[in-house]
Amino acid sequence: MQEVDYPIHSRVHRLRSFDTPTCQCWVKRDDELGFGISGSKFRKYRSLIPYLLSEHFEQIVLIGGIHSNNILGLSQLLVENRLPFKLYLRGDPDRLLVGNGLLTALIAGKTRIRWVSRAEWPEVEAIAKLENEGKHLFIVPEGACCLQAVEGALTLAQDIGRNEREVGLTFDHVFIDAGTGLTAIALLKGFTGTGHLHIILMAEDEEAFLGRLRAFGGSFSVPFTLYKPQNAASFGSVNERVMQEIRDVAATEGILLDPIYSAKLFIEGRRISIDTKLKGNVLFVHGGGALSLMGFKI
Ligand SMILES: *Cc1c(COP(=O)(O)O)cnc(C)c1O
Repeated sequence: MQEVDYPIHSRVHRLRSFDTPTCQCWVKRDDELGFGISGSKFRKYRSLIPYLLSEHFEQIVLIGGIHSNNILGLSQLLVENRLPFKLYLRGDPDRLLVGNGLLTALIAGKTRIRWVSRAEWPEVEAIAKLENEGKHLFIVPEGACCLQAVEGALTLAQDIGRNEREVGLTFDHVFIDAGTGLTAIALLKGFTGTGHLHIILMAEDEEAFLGRLRAFGGSFSVPFTLYKPQNAASFGSVNERVMQEIRDVAATEGILLDPIYSAKLFIEGRRISIDTKLKGNVLFVHGGGALSLMGFKI
């Protein structure tokens, strides 16, 4: 992707309005890693793109929803690197494109989009394989949840260690959101701190996350807790409480949240910090994705 392999680094700063009588809150600005690419994806692509370049695939297939941050982000790097790709998208081709979907169509072009109906969706991988038979093919699964993205995702753990040294403290609690869970699993594996990880599962249940944790394997000694959001629990669902959080954090902290991941992470993190009387330094990892806000009425 680039000639110089510089480290991926984002800053941390105080998140004062989230403080409680027993804890001081901080936010890690992985949202600042990319304007068009969400932070957690930016890290995954650091190892995924070099892999895709080295293998000289004749076709790369991306699987996901029309509003996916991964589809939008990875499309940008595939175009930049002149790699051949096609998008197999779950969605309605007749609906007006807004938000991430509109931007994806701008980047990838409508001719690269292969719409897959909801009825066909469970078979999407088999369909992609059949339609690209005979080609040297790579299928990027939903959320770029693949082994080739793990090395890049691991940079988050090292970078939090760097933040701790730079600000001269250790984080006692770290809150992170999970979609496929790959980013959180990489953090569990690579974490060098002494803190407790709090993982908010936006898309899957505890069982699915633990299954994936076993599949990606490795040992880790970090204590962690899994949660499902109590508000707007199903993946992609948005309600007035979510939009209110976005308005509040924008006005009090100057930070843009996205409705699918970070707004729910902040809502749950605030609630858990208060309800369980967390002590010490609390870090919220803001993985970005706020471009998707453009598809919503705020
Ligand atoms: C993709 C994404 C996630 C989920 O990452 P996983 O590795 O799939 O768990 C979380 N937050 C944002 C902003 C994302 O774009």
